[in-house]
Amino acid sequence: MKSIVRTDVGRVRKQNEDSVYAADAQRLFAVADGMGGHRAGEVASAMAVEALHMRLQSRQPDLRLMRQAFEEANGQIAAASAGEERLQGMGTTMTALWQTERSVLIAHVGDSRVYLLRKGNLRQVTDDHSVVAELLRCGLITPQEARRHPYRNVITRSLGSAPTVEVDLLEREREPGDLWLLCTDGLSNMLTDREMEALLGSLPPQKAADALMQKALDAGGTDNITFILAWDEGEVVT
Ligand code: CA
Repeated sequence: MKSIVRTDVGRVRKQNEDSVYAADAQRLFAVADGMGGHRAGEVASAMAVEALHMRLQSRQPDLRLMRQAFEEANGQIAAASAGEERLQGMGTTMTALWQTERSVLIAHVGDSRVYLLRKGNLRQVTDDHSVVAELLRCGLITPQEARRHPYRNVITRSLGSAPTVEVDLLEREREPGDLWLLCTDGLSNMLTDREMEALLGSLPPQKAADALMQKALDAGGTDNITFILAWDEGEVVT
């Protein structure tokens, strides 16, 4: 699998609390969006991708292993948070994708996202674990209201904030030409799905990545912006 990784502090924040993981040869990718004061978010997201690396490196794709890695990350972050005042209350999202011969495995906690571009159509594969996503699912607010909702940054699940964590586990069949996008909310809050679809569907991945980042920055860059594009080498994606 080929991939492009981009991360940027954005135009407002002083620190980049997102972490990213890309092991092309193993076809394993992840983004994590940390939260917590005094740079603790940076620690939490780095711990999460490190736990993923430690548990999954040189292993074969397996959803149970992915869940184990997420649970270990949860325990390690919670313990570090309880053990050091500076790190109290820290947590992180994590969204990971692992490609097998026939399918793509996804494990996910929080509001970072996986999207799939297939035949020019972009759709979100993961469900956000957020207050706004729950209100949307219940039909209590519209997508337009969701984008401006005062609670749009409040997530309902994270790694490190409770002794146990429920991990979403998904498997999707692959098709030739698929392009996968993993991103933190610093990208998906700045661009609509249709704007991302237009760029990804019309430009080669390298140029699309540049354009996505530039658009997110131009739209205000109010948060850290991190994303990965991953696709099969030699396959036409646009
Ligand atoms: Ca964020």
